[in-house]
Amino acid sequence: LVELRGIRKSFGTLEVLRGVDLTVRPGTVTAILGPSGSGKSTLLRTINHLETVDAGLVSVDGEIIGYRREGDVLHELPEKEVLRQRTGIGMVFQSFHLFAHMTALANIAEAPRRALKVPRRQAEARARELLALVGLADRADAYPRQLSGGQQQRVAIARALALEPAVLLFDEPTSALDPELVEEVLAVIRDLAREGRTLVIVTHEIAFARSVADEVVFMDGGEILEQGPPSRVIDAPQHERTRSFLRRVS
Ligand code: ATP
Ligand code: MG
Repeated sequence: LVELRGIRKSFGTLEVLRGVDLTVRPGTVTAILGPSGSGKSTLLRTINHLETVDAGLVSVDGEIIGYRREGDVLHELPEKEVLRQRTGIGMVFQSFHLFAHMTALANIAEAPRRALKVPRRQAEARARELLALVGLADRADAYPRQLSGGQQQRVAIARALALEPAVLLFDEPTSALDPELVEEVLAVIRDLAREGRTLVIVTHEIAFARSVADEVVFMDGGEILEQGPPSRVIDAPQHERTRSFLRRVS
């Protein structure tokens, strides 16, 4: 479903991604682990073209993201086309990014109304279903400031789901939360995994990654150092750098 081939990215002289290949199969959960600065967020952002790449290709559902191929030449897609592609790729950030002046319901209904021209009533009906899915059916009219961090993050997840994305990307979805609020957000993500959604999750929650991921990717220094099922990468890592990282975070 998601294919990354030879992804390279530098910021000035700093090479942040040094040739990353990754395949995400439909209906699977991929957890990306790695030390701070290893390029995890940058990699995630290349998938929906929030970050352009210096080399390599990203494709989702067989469609190249951000470019159009003409013979051997790639042409950048116009902004409008990129926005259309992004509707198929949901993203949930560490710090929620909800619209402060909109209710939970309006936050969720906004994108389908704007991006997909879904009529208001229909968008709001779907938003209510999604609120129920994340356990917040009774908070439709609350504004973000009236919600806890865990509740805000669950609204953000519902909002990402509203565009019915083929794949959902999470960048450390629980690391801005107080410890007692982490589990309610992980529980929602676990439900999505159980429903068979395709998820890519950057996380430091090792126990969660072990229990929910089909594939674990360990990144270090802009490269994928090892990759495989949790039973290999988390329980029997081959690389000393993976082992020392796991010792530090667990
Ligand atoms: P963390 O666990 O701290 O979130 P990360 O693995 O997500 O780290 P990235 O955010 O991808 O790491 O950053 C990788 C490197 O690229 C870091 O050294 C960072 O400072 C640098 N970097 C990221 N974005 C930019 C940018 N827009 N401009 C310049 N440097 C950047
Ligand atoms: Mg990051």
